[in-house]
Amino acid sequence: MNIVLFGAPGAGKGTQAERLVAERGLVQLSSGAMLRASIAEGTELGVRAKDILSRGDLVSDEIIVGMVAARLDDDDCAKGVILDGFPRTVAQALALDDMLIGRGLGLDCVIEIKVDEAALFARIENRAAKSGSARSDDNADTLRKRLAVYHERTAPLIPYYSEKGVLQSVDGMNAVSDVAAQIDVILG
Ligand code: AMP
Repeated sequence: MNIVLFGAPGAGKGTQAERLVAERGLVQLSSGAMLRASIAEGTELGVRAKDILSRGDLVSDEIIVGMVAARLDDDDCAKGVILDGFPRTVAQALALDDMLIGRGLGLDCVIEIKVDEAALFARIENRAAKSGSARSDDNADTLRKRLAVYHERTAPLIPYYSEKGVLQSVDGMNAVSDVAAQIDVILG
């Protein structure tokens, strides 16, 4: 089973993905976490990505697609993946379709976690307070930028996946356990 978890920054994609990993044995493929790992390791990719993440901009489609495609070839991904934070542009979604088709795989569903934007600020500020400086992009200024980028570049994926008939939405304003229950109904 291959799933995309979709939503604005702070919507709870990571939290739900981690639960699905624990409960269903799927592999979480978080493009943001992969980039942060590259930054921490100081790889060439990490050096190029560091300022982009801090600004709240998107890393280029080419870099991201190459990074995700390489990870998808790892043996542990054969059972299925939860894509968290990827795709974020229509070009990435098209590349994902090709990647899956090329491997004889398909996308089972795209789950959109819908949240109210005022609540996102509270969540991100809370996450920043808890993680200290662990994420350079967890602050209100960068969140504003990330939300603008989300609306401009990522939200067009909603009609894209809706037209394909794979989009399902859950109400992300509920408690984590309620959101989890809604996702479980969708996944069966
Ligand atoms: P996330 O952890 O998903 O919130 O991602 C953190 C940051 O990593 C984003 O604000 C972007 O700068 C970058 N990033 C993560 N995933 C992608 C992607 N699919 N395309 C472009 N940039 C990404």
